[in-house]
Amino acid sequence: MDKILVAYGDGIGPEIMEVTLSILKESGAKLFIETIDVGEKVYLSGHMSGITDESWTKIKENKVLLKAPITTPLGKGYKSLNVTFRKALGLFANIRPILSYEPFVPSLQKDVDFVIIRENEEDLYAGIEYRPTSSRYIAIKLLTSYGCERIIRYAFEYAINNGRKKVTCVTKNNIMKITDGAFSNIFEKVSAEYPQIQANHMIVDIATARIVSNPKIYDVIVTLNLYGDIMSDVGAETTGSVGLAGSANIGNEYAMFEAVHGSAPDIAGQNKANPSGLINASVMMLRHLGQYDIADKIQDALLVTLEDGIHTADIYKPDLSKKLVGTKEFGNALIANLGKKPKKLHVHEDQMIESGKDERKNRSHNFTHVLDDEHYAVSDDKQKVLGVDIFINKIDVKEFSHLANKLNDFAKDLGMHLHMISSRGLKIWPINVLPVFTGEFLRFRFLFDEELTKYGKDTTLTLQYKIYKLQEKIIGERLAISISMLLYDYEGVRGYSLAQGE
Ligand code: NAD
Repeated sequence: MDKILVAYGDGIGPEIMEVTLSILKESGAKLFIETIDVGEKVYLSGHMSGITDESWTKIKENKVLLKAPITTPLGKGYKSLNVTFRKALGLFANIRPILSYEPFVPSLQKDVDFVIIRENEEDLYAGIEYRPTSSRYIAIKLLTSYGCERIIRYAFEYAINNGRKKVTCVTKNNIMKITDGAFSNIFEKVSAEYPQIQANHMIVDIATARIVSNPKIYDVIVTLNLYGDIMSDVGAETTGSVGLAGSANIGNEYAMFEAVHGSAPDIAGQNKANPSGLINASVMMLRHLGQYDIADKIQDALLVTLEDGIHTADIYKPDLSKKLVGTKEFGNALIANLGKKPKKLHVHEDQMIESGKDERKNRSHNFTHVLDDEHYAVSDDKQKVLGVDIFINKIDVKEFSHLANKLNDFAKDLGMHLHMISSRGLKIWPINVLPVFTGEFLRFRFLFDEELTKYGKDTTLTLQYKIYKLQEKIIGERLAISISMLLYDYEGVRGYSLAQGE
C-alpha cells in the first residue's frame, strides 16, 4: 500500500479527480488516500499562498501528491501554489511527455513521442525582479552549478531507465554565454559519463521550431525553466493533446503529479471535461511508486478508449470519433477497457519518473546524490576581483562627457580606471560618435590597474575597500547607485559578460 495525498482543486478539478480515483480503485492500485484542501477557497479564506499549515503537515507525512488544477484568484498578490510547491518541496524536475494519438486525435505531426525535462526551481522563475529606476525593469536569471548538474543527470538517468537513446540540451548559450553557457558546459561534462546515450545541443529558437516541423529528432530534451515552459506548450499544442497531457514534478523527497491544463472554469460543473490529463498524471505517479503493472493497465485502457472513438467534446470530431461522451462516461468506458490492449496506438511504455531504486530493472539512480556549492567551489587563491560595474540611477546627459572624465579621475586616485560606460548592454563610452541614449540606468565599468589584482582573498578584500571609496565619491557627486556588481576572474575565466562593442 502506498500513501498518497489528493487535492481535488477548482473548476473542473473535482470532476476529473473523481473519475481518476474511481479508475485507480477499479484497476487495483494499492493506494491509501488522504485529501487536502488547496486552491481558491483557501486563498479566499485569507491564506495568500492557497494552502493551510495543516495541509503542509499532511504533505510532509505523505510525500506524494496527486493534484487537480486550481484557480489562482486574480489580483491582491495571491501567490501561485504551483510555484510555492516547487520551491518549498524542492521539486527540481518537471517532466512532460509529448505524445501524439494519431489518427484518433488530430495532430500536426504523427508518431510524436518525446519527453521534456525542465529545470523547475531556478532561472528567471526564481522571481527576483526589480524596478531600479522609474523606467527600468530587470529580472535576475539565477542558475546554480549543482541545480544544472542535477537536472542534467536526471535527464540522462531518465533516458537510460526508459530505453531512450538521445538527450538534447536546449539553451541560448550563443547570447547568454555565462548563464546558459554554464548549463551547456555542465551538460557536455556530464554527457561524457553516459557514452551509451547520444547527446547534442540545440539553440532554443530553432529547437522550438523543430518541435512543430520535425519532432522525431527528439527523444529526451533537457532545458532551463523558461524554455521548458514554452517548449512544453508548443509540444502539447503540436500534438493536439493539451487536454490529454500529464506532468510530474519530482524532487529528492517529494513528488507532485498533475494535468498540464488549468481549471477550465468555462466548462466547470458540466460533465464536459476530458479527464485524460489527470489520468495520465496518475499513471506517472503509479510508475513513480513502482506499481508498474497497474500503470500499464490504465495506460492501455486509456489508449483503447481513444481508439474506440469514445471522445470528450474537446477532441470529438464527427468523422473520426464514434461517440461523444461526458467526463463520467469516459471514465466508465475506460474502466470497462481495463485489461485490454490497444491495437494501433503505441506510446513509450516507460514514461516513468523514479527516484531511488527501480526494482523492475534492479538499478539505482545517481541523480539524487548530494550536490552542493562545495562541489563547484573555486578556492580563494584561484579567484580575483578585476573591477566593478556600477549602475547609476540617472545622470544629466548634457554632463555625460564631463562626468565620465570626473569619475575616471576619482578611479585613478584609487588605482582604477573607467573602462567603459554602457546603456542597455551597448557600449557608449569611450566612442567617437555617441549613439542615442538616455541618462537612466547607465553602467560604469571600472577596472583595477593590472598590478593591483592578484589571486587570493586578502587582495580581494583590499580591493573591495577601494570600491567602497569609489562609491563614496560617486554618491558625493549626488548620484544614486542602483547596483554594484564585482567583476571576477576564476582561474583565468572571466566571470562577467562584455558589453556590445566593448
Ligand atoms: P485552462 O487550461 O483552464 O483552459 C484553457 C482552455 O482549455 C479552456 O477553453 C478550457 O475549457 C479548455 N480545457 C482545459 N482543460 C480541459 C479539459 N481537461 N477538457 C476539456 N477542455 C479543457 O487555462 P486558463 O483558462 O488559462 O486558466 C484557467 C484557470 O486555471 C486560471 O485560474 C489559471 O490560473 C488556472 N491554471 C491552473 C493550473 C494548475 O493548477 N496546474 C495550470 C494552468 C492554469
